Order: sequence, then structure tokens, then C-alpha cells
Amino acid sequence: MDVKHEIEELRSRLNRYNYLYYVENNPEVSDFEFDTLLRRLQDLEAEHPEYYDANSPTMRVGSDLTTEFKTVRHAFPMLSLSNTYSLEELGEWIDRIEREVEGVEFVCELKFDGTAISLTYENGRLLRAVTRGDGEQGDDVTANVRTIGSVPLVLTGEGYPDYFEIRGEILMPYASFERINAEREANDEQPFANPRNAAAGTLKQQQSQVVAKRGLDCTLYQLAGKTLPHDNHWQNLQAARSWGFKISDKARICRSREEIFEFINYWDTERKVLPFPTDGIVIKVNDDASRRTLGFTAKSPRWAVAYKFKAEQALTRLLKVTYQVGRTGAITPVANLEPVLLAGTVVKRATLHNADQIAALGLREGDMVYVEKGGEIIPKIVEVELSERHADSAPLEYITHCPECGAELVRYQGEAKHYCPNQSHCRPQILGRIIHFIRRKAMNIEGLGEETIELLFDNALVRNIADLYDLKAYQLAVLPRLGEKSAENIMQSIATSRSVALHRVIFALGIRFVGETTAKYLASHFKSMDALMAATREELLQTEEVGEKIADSIEDYFADEQNRSIVERLRQAGLQFEAEQTAQASNILAGMNIVISGSFSDHSRDELKAMIEAHGGKNQSAVASNTTYLLAGEKIGPAKLQKATKLGVKIISEQDFISLIGEQTTQQTVEQQDIKTEVKDNTPVQGSLF
Ligand code: NAD
Repeated sequence: MDVKHEIEELRSRLNRYNYLYYVENNPEVSDFEFDTLLRRLQDLEAEHPEYYDANSPTMRVGSDLTTEFKTVRHAFPMLSLSNTYSLEELGEWIDRIEREVEGVEFVCELKFDGTAISLTYENGRLLRAVTRGDGEQGDDVTANVRTIGSVPLVLTGEGYPDYFEIRGEILMPYASFERINAEREANDEQPFANPRNAAAGTLKQQQSQVVAKRGLDCTLYQLAGKTLPHDNHWQNLQAARSWGFKISDKARICRSREEIFEFINYWDTERKVLPFPTDGIVIKVNDDASRRTLGFTAKSPRWAVAYKFKAEQALTRLLKVTYQVGRTGAITPVANLEPVLLAGTVVKRATLHNADQIAALGLREGDMVYVEKGGEIIPKIVEVELSERHADSAPLEYITHCPECGAELVRYQGEAKHYCPNQSHCRPQILGRIIHFIRRKAMNIEGLGEETIELLFDNALVRNIADLYDLKAYQLAVLPRLGEKSAENIMQSIATSRSVALHRVIFALGIRFVGETTAKYLASHFKSMDALMAATREELLQTEEVGEKIADSIEDYFADEQNRSIVERLRQAGLQFEAEQTAQASNILAGMNIVISGSFSDHSRDELKAMIEAHGGKNQSAVASNTTYLLAGEKIGPAKLQKATKLGVKIISEQDFISLIGEQTTQQTVEQQDIKTEVKDNTPVQGSLF
């Protein structure tokens, strides 16, 4: 592969991994692998400046931005940290800093393995909490963060600035992680792969009540603002502790390479008994003046570095490779292992991803293999111990036919995985599609778990997604573990799903590569299922985020007679095939700025925001002198209320708002506005110490 191609390939892979890690919270590779690929890309870009691209993953922090929350611009960027797994490299970094800053003092801290958060306080009260997002702007998750016990809503002590930010990590302690995963497994839900994903996923929950029950914790490690009490990091942290923030007591001032290495050595083993996950040590220059001298790169400060601990490994035997068939027919090989203890859990299975990976590892059944679990992903085989290979073992032959239905497997161009093409008769594919259809983010049909779907399928009651709408309560009531009451609830839930918005219906169809976001773009572009079905390839390609691969997949889906007949039956069943009007409903709110706070009984906050815009108003993030109304729900933020009272801003209820816009409906969705609501922040802070 030539350099240009390698660079392109690395950029596209790393962008995908970033998405899986930050948005889906479902990483496919270990941090070590990600960092190794990123390093390779950095080196190639340095050698070939002609391929410079400001959008390269080496130049930007991985983004966690979603469309589900209000977007808030950071007063100053929230950056990443440069990192290393090598003590030698760390030594070189220390030498460099010591050369540039005389008598430099470092602060060594644990690197908490959660998700970054920025909290803003005004007059001692929590004003807002925002995720790192893409570094420039983040998701406003204030309502969720307010439920975390260790985040002070009101500060204690004295000396805090009137207005400042404090940044840190939202964490899930191991105890909460285990409890939640036990609950999820009991409810037939997919367990979280690790505490980091659980913390990041929880923070992006739509319902704060759910967040409150998840047992999150928050540790802060960086103050920022125009006027901080001290001119160095260490003393500012101590001050922040006295105001009621949870600041780790494990940090130390180190004045030499030896002291830093001692700190690292100690925590390399001791961290295993901490009640929360850590993945390294962060070494920071202490005083602000030196930090200013050292400055920043595009992505991270030069005055700090993360030393990351390598994932733990264990040696065990590969007993057998089995194959799973997903809802799209994708085949995933799974390594069945002799159980082995690794990073606190017993590992019995590891994912192998695809045939190429098996070939690259040169795997044979019976081999002794190194398994790795970085605390961040499902265990993975990283290497074969060739010295222990049996002389009579044979190379592993990848299957050629579907293990479930026997159809011959195919490999699509550019795809690493093999697929079973027998969509209509291969059991796990059919079940997978139905299970996808009923998911919360799709049609949200409650009460129908995986087991019930299997029962319905095995009893020939449901063979495809459209059959769900022909079900009768009596057919459900006789199934094991269901009774009349559950059957009624399921019927009710199926009925309710008829009003689910078009973009979720498109997502629910399970078209390959059409995820939630693409479905939203498709709904907003085509406005109806019919227009989408009739779309030409060129029209599909004009939709945002739709490239060749997705366009092919949509075309293939609707070219299939069986799919068309299923979609037709869904229409007959009364599902939403038209997007709600995106046109301006009225101009009644023109020129008005409205702040929403609290939770509401008849509408979600997103629906209210969409309604404000549909009626010509503007959503505002914080109460300001130009705010027209504070739309207040239950548990309204005290800071907002106080400010509104102080500024004489009129406070209205959900009912008042509905009367104001003259709407009676409780179900309005404006597809267009679902995509992104960007709110400019008027934060008065400009200076940055971070
Ligand atoms: P990072 O996690 O390496 O370091 C920066 C983050 O560390 C900060 O944003 C902050 O949240 C956190 N942090 C924890 N303790 C801290 C402390 N005491 N002081 C300061 N910050 C502290 O960087 P990142 O940008 O969040 O993530 C990039 C890394 O994430 C990659 O290097 C890779 O290891 C991993 N990643 C993995 C995948 C994957 O697919 N496995 C994908 C993307 C990113």
C-alpha cells in the first residue's frame, strides 16, 4: 500500500474506532491497539506533510457529541492528553520539560478511567455540566450530573471565584458496575463491557431518574477560570477540596524523574485494590507560568502527559472456535477458552472478529494463546505461544457455510466479515431483526424480551416484524412466563409503537449500515417512507452522511420483494410513514428566548425544544437578561430559578407554554430539529489555565 493510501486507511479506521468508543461506548479494539495505530499515523503525517489534514484524528480529540442533548460551546477547549506506554519515552518527556523550565515541579495523579466532564459554578452554585464533546463544544448533561451525590450543587467554605469551571472525570466504581450488570443480565439486557463504557453510557441517558440509580461518582482534577485563588495547580486543588469537591488524596508533588517513577511503580500494583478503575498516571507541570511557557499542541497540553498501564494478559488454551450469526447475517468467530482469571474476572470466551484476524494470528485449535483485557473491551487473543504448539495440530479452516442454516457464506467487496446471505430463512437473522425492531431506540415495544421473541418464532406466531402487529392478546397469554396482564401490556406497547416517529421506523427496519443518526437524516431528507423507497441512488447520495455503501444497502433492501411486502404490511398496520411537519408551525414565539429547566409530565425536553423552534422561538441554555421565559418543570435547577427571579424573567409552566402556542397535542416531533440544536454560550470566561 502506498503512503497516501495507508494514511487514508488509518484515518478512516481511527475515526470509526473513535465513534465506537465515544458515541456507541462499544469499542472494538484495545486502547493499546488504538494508540499504536494513532502513533503510526502521526509518524506518517510527520514524514509527509503534503498529506496534512486539519480533520485527521491526530489533530482532533475523539468526539462524544450526540444529537440527544443541547450542544454548548466550551469557554475554552477541553483537550486530550498525549500518552505513552514506555518509561523510556516518559523519561525523555521529563528531560525535555526540565530543559525548558528550570526547577520544575510536577504533580502526579491517578488517571481515572471514566468520562471527562466540565462543571461550571456561578456564585457557588452548579450552573451546568458539559461533556468534552469534540473539544470545542460538548453535550449539556446538567440534569444527569445533578443526580451524582459527589457533585456539590452548592459550594461550602470560602474563597471560590464568582464564576469558574472545574474539570474532572465521571466514574463508575466497580461495585456499582457489578450491581448494574447483574441487573441488566437478569433483564435480558446486554451487560456493559467495562466501567468506563457504563459511566459514559449512563451520563448520556435521557432520564435522570435512571442516572440517579446507577451509582456514578465524580472526581475533579483541574480548576479553570479568570481569577483562581492560587497560581499553581496543587494549591488550587487543595482549595477546591475545601469548597466541597471530591479531589483525589492520592496525588503527589514530585521533583525528579526518580520520584515520578516511584509513584508509577507503586500505583502499577496498588491500583488493583482501588474501588474504581484507573488506566495510568497523569504527570502535570505544577505552576501556571511554566504551563503558559510550554503551551499546547492541536490536541493536548505540552505541560502534561499520561503514562498508560498496559493491559493485563493471561495464557490459556484455545479449545474451539465457534461462529455466531448476527441480524445482518454477519458471521463472528468466537474463541472458546479454558477458563482463566484475568483482571479480576474469569474469561471463557474471546472475540476473533473475522477470518483475517484468525489468519493473522495463525490460530489453531488446541493452541496456548495470550488473552488480553485492557479493562476496556471484551477479551481478545493477541498472540499464540508457538513453543507450546502440538506437532499434530492443523491450521484452522474458516467455515464456508452458515452454521445455522447451511447456506454458502459470501464476502462482500471491502468487507472484512463473511455473511450468510439467506436473510429470509436463517433463524438468528430473523430473530435478530425482530429483536432490533422492538429495541428501545427503535419501536420501543416493551415486555417482549429475546426469549419471548424466540417463543413466538418457534410457535410460528411471528416470522417477521410485520407479524407483530397481527398478534392477539390470547396468543401471548398462553406462552410460558406470560399471563393475561403481561399480554395486555405487550399489546398496549405494540399499539403505542404505531405513533413512533418516521426516523425510528426507518432505523427499526434494520437496513444494514443505517444507524440511528443516518435514519434521522433520511427521514428529514425524504420526509416519507414512500419517498425513501422510491429514491434513486443519486437522491440517496445527496442525503447527509449517506455514502456509496449506505446507498447500496438501502437500494438492496427496498429492491427485495419480501422487504417491500413487509414494509407494505407495516403501512397497513398504521405505522408512521410520514415525517411530522418540519414547516414552521407558527411565528408566535418570534423574537423570544426561552430557557427550559426541570422535567416535564407531558413532553420530553427535546419535544419542548423542537416546539419552541417550530413556533419561531429560540432555545437558550442559561437565563440571561434577554430571556423571555423560563419554562419550568419539576425539580427546576435552583441557579436558573434564582437568576430568573433576580432578572425579573417570567416563569411559565408546561401548561402555560402549551396555551401560549395554542397546541393541544402531546406528541409532536420535528425531524429537522432532532438533528442538532446548537446553543451559543455566553460564558464570560475567556482566559484559560488549562
Ligand atoms: P485519554 O483518555 O488518553 O486522556 C485524556 C483524558 O484523561 C481526559 O480527557 C480526562 O478525561 C482523563 N483523565 C483521567 N484522569 C485525569 C487526570 N488526573 N488529569 C487529567 N485528565 C485525566 O485521552 P482521550 O482523548 O479521552 O482518549 C484517547 C484515548 O482513548 C486513546 O489514546 C485511546 O487510548 C482511547 N481510545 C480508545 C479507542 C478504542 O477503540 N479502544 C478509541 C478511541 C480512544
